[in-house]
Amino acid sequence: MHRPLRLTVDRTAIQENWRWLQDRAGVPAGAAVKADGYGLGARETAHALYQAGCRDFFVSTWAEADALGPLPLGASVVVLHGVGPKDVDASQTISARPCLNSVEQVARWKDIAPDRPCDVMIDTGMNRLGLRPTEIGALDGLEIDTLHSHLACADEDSPMNPMQLERFRAVASAVPAKRYALANSAGICLGRAYSFDLVRPGLSIYGGIPREEADGKIRNAVRVDAQVVQRRTIPAGESCGYGATYVAKEPTEAAILNIGYADGYLRSFSSRGSAFAGEFALPVLGRVSMDLIAVGVDAAPALREGDWVEIDYDLPSAAKQSGLSQYELLTTLGSRFERRWL
Ligand SMILES: *Cc1c(COP(=O)(O)O)cnc(C)c1O
Repeated sequence: MHRPLRLTVDRTAIQENWRWLQDRAGVPAGAAVKADGYGLGARETAHALYQAGCRDFFVSTWAEADALGPLPLGASVVVLHGVGPKDVDASQTISARPCLNSVEQVARWKDIAPDRPCDVMIDTGMNRLGLRPTEIGALDGLEIDTLHSHLACADEDSPMNPMQLERFRAVASAVPAKRYALANSAGICLGRAYSFDLVRPGLSIYGGIPREEADGKIRNAVRVDAQVVQRRTIPAGESCGYGATYVAKEPTEAAILNIGYADGYLRSFSSRGSAFAGEFALPVLGRVSMDLIAVGVDAAPALREGDWVEIDYDLPSAAKQSGLSQYELLTTLGSRFERRWL
């Protein structure tokens, strides 16, 4: 069936972004493919990155590990949320390692799989997931593949960064593990002191720019196109869309496009987003509807029903337009797109 909106993912961009992150880190890079590969497709991303040399893949839940399906030889999958009371069966049938986050999870894992390696998350100050440094006694007897911590403020120049680094160094020297890992995409930008043995980028693989160090190095990997449903002229003094928030000062040409907030093009793009027709920017006129937006097309006199229009979804600039984070821009992309991998 024809779908009037399209999401195109650039496999080469994904691979090159990952390689830049690995080179910058100077140690092997894994890949966060949780949330279905940040909305773009976990399987496709994992296979593309395996080809590029990636061997460590991170998901949030056992359901996500299951959905990822089997990966080629040598790849490992880590479940970041660890093993909860309802995950016992899944953890015994799915070949992934849990990243244990609490004394309770450690005890559970020792109970159900005393001989299988696991990962462990240490909380060095974010107070989200992980064992406190004072709780590491509970880790005795575990076979730890990778000991992790996670940075709360790596996208800023915050005193939290060196503080978490120091705390993680201290814990790492006290807890034996095959590898140690701290940095996400932004952490990789902070410098090699944060690299340890493995890094865990997510956002920047998919084209997100968390810090200026990545600017000009990481490139956009997604393209969003929507088809014109109709073209119309808004008479002077009349409005367009819900709430009549846009009023045409003079007769204004508009194209109504097949995309809306149900596709993840959220209402925060109302009167702020834009699209492209060739080199012309077409402003979003008024509110984003569930399934439609209007863009001004005075600059594109030839544009008509059935033509495709590229939405400005360059992550840093779309984030500025909408006030959404680059993470949200990726992960909210809906299910109605025809998805293509180049
Ligand atoms: C999501 C996640 C990452 C990836 O972070 P980005 O900011 O997307 O690079 C790394 N580590 C952990 C623990 C995560 O949850």
